[in-house]
Amino acid sequence: MAELSGATLIARSLKQQGVEVMFGVVGFPVFGIASAAQAEGIKYVGMRNEQSASYAAAAVGYLTGRPGACLVVSGPGMIHALAGLSNAWSNCWPMIVIGGASNSYQEGMGAFQEAPQVESARLYTKWTARPDSPQRIPTYIEQAVRTSIYGRPGAIYLDFPDDVISAQVDESIVSFPGRCPDPPRPQAAPSDIESAVDVLRSAERPLVIVGKGAAYSNAEDEVRAFIEATQLPFLSSPMGKGVVSDEHPLSVAPGRALALGEADVVVLLGARLNWMMHFGLPPRFGAGVKTIQIDIAAEEIGRNVPAEVGLVGDLKSIVGQLNDALAAKPYRLAADAPWRATLGDKVDNNKQAVRAMMDDESVPMGYYRVFREIQEQAPAGTIIQAEGAQTMDISRSVLMHDEPRLRLDAGSFGTMGVGLGQAIAAQVVHPDKKVICIEGDSAFGFSGMEVETACRYRLPIVFVIVNNNSIGGGVKQLPEDPWAIPPSGYTIDAGYEKMIEGFGGKGYLVRTPEELGASLKQALDDDMPSIINVLIDPSARGKPQKFAWLTQ
Ligand code: ADP
Repeated sequence: MAELSGATLIARSLKQQGVEVMFGVVGFPVFGIASAAQAEGIKYVGMRNEQSASYAAAAVGYLTGRPGACLVVSGPGMIHALAGLSNAWSNCWPMIVIGGASNSYQEGMGAFQEAPQVESARLYTKWTARPDSPQRIPTYIEQAVRTSIYGRPGAIYLDFPDDVISAQVDESIVSFPGRCPDPPRPQAAPSDIESAVDVLRSAERPLVIVGKGAAYSNAEDEVRAFIEATQLPFLSSPMGKGVVSDEHPLSVAPGRALALGEADVVVLLGARLNWMMHFGLPPRFGAGVKTIQIDIAAEEIGRNVPAEVGLVGDLKSIVGQLNDALAAKPYRLAADAPWRATLGDKVDNNKQAVRAMMDDESVPMGYYRVFREIQEQAPAGTIIQAEGAQTMDISRSVLMHDEPRLRLDAGSFGTMGVGLGQAIAAQVVHPDKKVICIEGDSAFGFSGMEVETACRYRLPIVFVIVNNNSIGGGVKQLPEDPWAIPPSGYTIDAGYEKMIEGFGGKGYLVRTPEELGASLKQALDDDMPSIINVLIDPSARGKPQKFAWLTQ
């Protein structure tokens, strides 16, 4: 009988469990796992930093519903991957980090890069384990994949000492569990569906909030049917965009503050009442607002605001149940409901204000003019990654999505630096789609070296750096004395576009709308990655918000 190494068992099991992509940075003791992954038909993407590798793996989980894998070396490499584990934990995304570790027989002896890896991962994972023998690796991997995607999705950490990775075992003593099926889609109790429909019927100012849980559960058909049947106004969360088209006439995104503040019944479709939704509390929400909350995680029901009706289970299944109940006993918000008119006026006014900024041709440009160009040129189905405080927030209001799972950003954890890893993941998963990665200059700095990764794998991502010389903006010049540089200031007019040329990509420096239009067109046609470095007005700002996302 043939012998199999621990490394091959890890790679073969991951492949059998539907893990198609692994991002990593190799070194002791994981070289063999990366090579084995390639031999088993997993796409291995060698990244420049473990943080980016871990963000990329989680993005694969969100985009595909099967976890991406992240491979890291012992000690510092594994500690860097905590960035991705925590980001996945906060966003409820499936991913698996495979960490190398020093030999198990040297535990506690001060071995090379020895660290409390299992303990450190525990806080951010659904499950963390250190396989006790090589022959049981397939069992651990199946459990890791299943745990990451069943119930509320989340992160997994598996710790592999060098001696387990390099061990050879006789194939006859290894058994491979079958591929773990896609997650079950539990339904809600029929009586709770009835209660939810009753609460809706009693509403005067109902509002639907579509979150990324709806995108993750592929519930777009059901959610669209629900909105059409009920004619309810809806708001999409940043990554819930496109589950129902942003341009649907019932989208009240431009009137967000008013809609949240005045709604008397809110239907939460896979969105949490956390900081992004102002905790569901006054003054952002009305006191006494009733919620109909659908979530796969029972413990989420009633967080911050007691739910009027909690529907625990899979969003696609439960919205389907609601649609069936509505087909039997139709309900729709009346066309002449005063709530519609109130929202409609607000939406129209705010749209006009934004339009004026989008059409402003001044040089240097502001954010809105830059994003208008992207909106006009991006082909249908383009995946947008956006990060950087204002870059992310303003791009959300200008860039429209017709389809779900086309937007990635700093997410629930507000993690800056996720951008390049996420964009690379998106392009690997969807080689047929365009990917535009819109970065504030400060956000770009966290993981800018990954442009080399994009070039090496010939991933034709268009990186647009919206450059205002700083964190937050307002810095037009740096003082002579370097010790007087404002903490938020960066090099003025930094030539970020030059970086990518060293790796075979194309760089553009852009100051005017015409230059932006021409370079974006070329970059979108290119089969190599590009950086478009857009020098905007450092004092440019977004439209003043009644309640900005970060206000308490
Ligand atoms: P957003 O940031 O878009 O508002 P959140 O991350 O706050 O979204 O919330 C997403 C919610 O979706 C989480 O509470 C998660 O448990 C839930 N969720 C994930 N998958 C499913 C699913 N298949 N069905 C229902 N809810 C889900």
